[in-house]
Amino acid sequence: MKCPYCNNDMEIGIIQDCNEIAWLKGLDRPALGRAAFHEGSVVLSKLSLTKGSAVMAYLCRGCGKVIIDLKDPNTDLNRG
Ligand SMILES: [Zn+2]
Repeated sequence: MKCPYCNNDMEIGIIQDCNEIAWLKGLDRPALGRAAFHEGSVVLSKLSLTKGSAVMAYLCRGCGKVIIDLKDPNTDLNRG
């Protein structure tokens, strides 16, 4: 995948955590609680008590962007 910002090759990998991974709308600092408690938020990877949470992501080392494709059904490694 080519970076849409600088056209360098991007590397595929994962972002992982032991908690739910979510984008929380409108926040600029960490907040308590899962995405369900924050209106407009998006769960990137559901919490799994046995596996943790992980989401596929593309990294551009050239410009430092990370891209997550929410429309790709394989993005959330805890889907299903
Ligand atoms: Zn880039």
